Amino acid sequence: MPALLLIMDGVGDRGKETPLSSAKTPYMDELAATGIGGFVRTVAGGFVPGSDTAHLSLFGYDPHKFYRGRGPFEALGAGMEMGEGDVAFRTNLCTVDESGIIVDRRAGRKDVGFEELYRAIGEMEIEDVKVKVQHTVEHRGALVMSGKGLLEKVGNTDPHETGKPIMESVPLAEGAEKTARVLNEFTKRACEILASHEVNKQRESQGLKPANAILCRGAGIYQGIIPIRERFGIRAVCIAGGALYKGAARYVGMDVLDVPGATGTAETDLTAKARAAVDAAPDYDFVFLHVKATDAFGHDGDFDGKRRMIEKVDAEIIPRVHGLFDVIVVTGDHTTAVTARRHTADPVPFLFWHRDVRRDEVTKLSEQECARGILGHIAGLDVMPMILDYLDKSTMFGE
Ligand code: ZN
Ligand code: ZN
Repeated sequence: MPALLLIMDGVGDRGKETPLSSAKTPYMDELAATGIGGFVRTVAGGFVPGSDTAHLSLFGYDPHKFYRGRGPFEALGAGMEMGEGDVAFRTNLCTVDESGIIVDRRAGRKDVGFEELYRAIGEMEIEDVKVKVQHTVEHRGALVMSGKGLLEKVGNTDPHETGKPIMESVPLAEGAEKTARVLNEFTKRACEILASHEVNKQRESQGLKPANAILCRGAGIYQGIIPIRERFGIRAVCIAGGALYKGAARYVGMDVLDVPGATGTAETDLTAKARAAVDAAPDYDFVFLHVKATDAFGHDGDFDGKRRMIEKVDAEIIPRVHGLFDVIVVTGDHTTAVTARRHTADPVPFLFWHRDVRRDEVTKLSEQECARGILGHIAGLDVMPMILDYLDKSTMFGE
């Protein structure tokens, strides 16, 4: 039977009482009582983890080595293909006035015809580089450049504020000139196509702002990734609602399942996700199951919402998976403290269950209880090797 890595995004918290400590979680408590606890720190000390870097770490890929920008996660999460050396960006359709000044970075957000507009600029060839763009949600999308001699070390074209013109992308390192040049040429051609597009005439006749320009940011390169199957000798699969997590999983070569009802919001269908994990179990060694809403409640400062989401995960996921996996790990990728309303560097409560682990006194996945755990503080990078060891899939160092 495979291992299950259940991540409640941003589940850790600060303070005496926390959403984890006050949540009623009878099923997780049972796992904790027969498993072992501790804390995980997903990125190096002194850093505050992003979800992307934290997940790379939990998947066994050192983010300080393998993280080369956000763009590829967005593109892969959107289902786009990327190969070695390709560079990706996040994109926004936006509105500029007659003099090219940005008046709305999200083109009014109202999604009328955004998909069609993205399709109109969907494929271009600039120099010897193929540029592909794809719509994701609302005004957002992703751009992938494929070709030789590309580098992610280029500036954004997105000034991140209105009242300014679209920026010219500049190379930030030697060898990045071509990427900046292609991005600028793409931006020019795309803006021409968008400005005269029929959809924008319709938008304006409905009183909506035209989506007549595109902004790119978050350059990243897809490079040097040894797929998880080769690196650890396991078949791995991802069940997630949010595109970023699907993208992170694809980045390391996991399969990604499409689960109807998995939305990455508080309304996500946790039962469907648990069922998908159980159904996938016979075909895989490692199932990654991600729940996003705990993080969103943290950002909103909503203690009760976060607590209720944890209780929902406990009731709807744990009983369905308990007994069907050899290893069950329940933790988060980082702390999203409701008081701070942001990611913080505090290590995250960590629960590891296997029928044959050593025992400790931990009886609940919480900040206070896990402090009594036998695991102490572990690094995110230690999680995958530990799982492999209990799956009898580890390799010995030395003889
Ligand atoms: Zn996260
Ligand atoms: Zn977050």
